[in-house]
Amino acid sequence: MLNYIDLHTHSTASDGIYAPAELLQRAKDIGLRIVALTDHDSTGGLQEAVQEAGKLDIDLIPGIEINTDVAGGEVHVLGYFLEYERPAFQDVLKVLRDARVRRGQRMVELLNEQGIAVSWERVREIARGSVGRPHVARALMEAGYVQSIGEAFDKYIGKGCYAYVPRYKLTPVDAVHFIASANGLPVIAHPLELPGLEELRNWLPELCDAGMVGLETYYGPYTDEEVQVLRALAETYHLISTGGSDFHGPGIHPTPLGGRHVPFEAVERLKAGAAKRHGKTPPSFELPPPVEEK
Ligand code: AMP
Ligand code: ZN
Ligand code: FE
Ligand code: FE
Repeated sequence: MLNYIDLHTHSTASDGIYAPAELLQRAKDIGLRIVALTDHDSTGGLQEAVQEAGKLDIDLIPGIEINTDVAGGEVHVLGYFLEYERPAFQDVLKVLRDARVRRGQRMVELLNEQGIAVSWERVREIARGSVGRPHVARALMEAGYVQSIGEAFDKYIGKGCYAYVPRYKLTPVDAVHFIASANGLPVIAHPLELPGLEELRNWLPELCDAGMVGLETYYGPYTDEEVQVLRALAETYHLISTGGSDFHGPGIHPTPLGGRHVPFEAVERLKAGAAKRHGKTPPSFELPPPVEEK
């Protein structure tokens, strides 16, 4: 069966390798018909993506991915069908991206203090959109300190490593409310990553109360058994089972673009949810104050 839907992709607007138009071109080449662009803390790629998708007769779903930190790991929240041009929504994104710039600079400083010669200028050239650890990792790779992005995370910039600097602190509930403030639909990304399913089960009631509508059941490398468990969990909580590849470019994550089958029902249910929200005044969102930096 050919896949024709991918609801989780990244472009140069965050830490993907391909510009939005290039990504869409590749999506077309492999026969995708429905694509969501879900860059980290940025909707900067959406205009180009929408335009290119129009030319290629692809349905482009405007999305985002918000990374949040919890004890023992991270919870990433995807947002779909955003009314992303809302000024209040863009204002918050800008605060998050500015914090990512300062954080990137701090990571480079910490590396330099340990004699690792990577420059902020180079990181900023590699990062054409919102700055993330993968951009620092690529600079480390270019400079010959590591052989792979994964090695850079393991040795230098993963949680617990000396050059790790936290992002602007958001909770998963903050991310849900933030996405709702653009009339978007929040979905839990890759639910089996750390802190893991058992932890997640404890939070699901609270996350659903906050307005979570979906679970990324059909995620890139998840096995059939894992998908079954997630489907059951999604049904229990009346969550929409979504899915996608989390494609960032060749060789970065294990699944190629369009490499995971996603049922059309996921898109239908998201669309129905969006139709109920769109055009209404969304709930406002207030960003929690920044945590004092040391
Ligand atoms: P950041 O949001 O800047 O903390 O960067 C986190 C992003 O880096 C994640 O969303 C992934 O896309 C990517 N990432 C995290 N760990 C790894 C890894 N071990 N190898 C490659 N990419 C990773
Ligand atoms: Zn990423
Ligand atoms: Fe993620
Ligand atoms: Fe992602």
